[in-house]
Amino acid sequence: MPTILVTGGAGYIGSHTAKRLLEADYHVVVLDNMRTGHRWAIERLRRLAEQGSSQFVFVQGDVADTALVVRLVHEYGVEAAVHFAALSLVGESMQHPERYFAENVAKGIALFNALVVAGVRYVVFSSTAAVYGIPERVPIAEDTPTHPLNPYGASKRMLEEALRWLGEVHPFRSISLRYFNAAGADPDGWLGEAHDPETHLIPLAIRSVLCPDEDRVAQLLGYSPTQDQPLDRPPLRLFGTDYPTPDGTCIRDYIHVSDLAEAHVVALEALLDGHPTDCWNVGTGEGYSVRQVIDAVERVTGRTVPVVEAPRRPGDPPVLVAEAKKLKRLGWEPKYTELRAIVHTAWRWHNAALELVPSSQNRAI
Ligand code: UDP
Repeated sequence: MPTILVTGGAGYIGSHTAKRLLEADYHVVVLDNMRTGHRWAIERLRRLAEQGSSQFVFVQGDVADTALVVRLVHEYGVEAAVHFAALSLVGESMQHPERYFAENVAKGIALFNALVVAGVRYVVFSSTAAVYGIPERVPIAEDTPTHPLNPYGASKRMLEEALRWLGEVHPFRSISLRYFNAAGADPDGWLGEAHDPETHLIPLAIRSVLCPDEDRVAQLLGYSPTQDQPLDRPPLRLFGTDYPTPDGTCIRDYIHVSDLAEAHVVALEALLDGHPTDCWNVGTGEGYSVRQVIDAVERVTGRTVPVVEAPRRPGDPPVLVAEAKKLKRLGWEPKYTELRAIVHTAWRWHNAALELVPSSQNRAI
């Protein structure tokens, strides 16, 4: 089976995709600088590879290190790359746009350059629905004009465009996957979502109902208490209750991370089969409001989410729901279409993390 370079494979979506690739018998080389990646994710991927016949290699390094990327391609016979490594905080991108152009755009282009030089012809790129901004119509089809509202979305759009031009000139093809709201966790309990800082709705809602004796799980997942202050577990802030939606809160298309991982495998195989360069949406086509998400978390956990209503968060469009026709045409269908099923895997992961990781270990394992 081909060897796939997975940049950012120690992160949330990257690690779930690396797992799916290993399960599909691909050999996987993860390149991650470990600034936001997790050692425990790498250890679990390594363990998974040991149980099967695929080779798994982890290299700590920078995607813009051309010599390193070229060496990895030659040493392991890399045929294709899946590029996740990036900064991904919309709020931070509005405060420090330069970071997003340096880390995402400049380094992404350096990576693509190294791949072209080394003879790699296929890239699956981790893009985002944020390229659409406030869409003209919903559900959003791939031919909807792109108007990113923040430097994060703009940085992804720029790389999509760079990839398109590389494909015009070189024997090189790519598929950019525009994710809607990635959510949930590996149903086997091996991997899950752990951002620091966490800004996403479902993990924050779960965090708000964790009990004090579950602090260790919270720490493992990246919620760092300060030295003399115990874990800060604030109520969930509900951003905006006056949107033009049935219950006044924003509607999003929550796509389970395993369905998202599978979309990368479908895209990769399409490229290997000769599919031309393209951009595909990845979403379920179903929208759920913030209040519906809170309700699902309460039902799944059996606990009440403490909520405070807050003003709208700048840059949040009222409704983002995908039309994922291109992926579906190739046989991809999301398995998790029920919000409660998605939340259930996220909740299970919080509990599984407690069992999987001995107390002496923490997020730096
Ligand atoms: N949201 C919220 N409180 C939070 C985090 C998010 O009300 O603490 C809302 C946010 O305004 C958006 C939805 O939940 O309408 C999903 O936000 P998230 O950050 O998870 O994903 P995004 O849609 O920004 O990619």
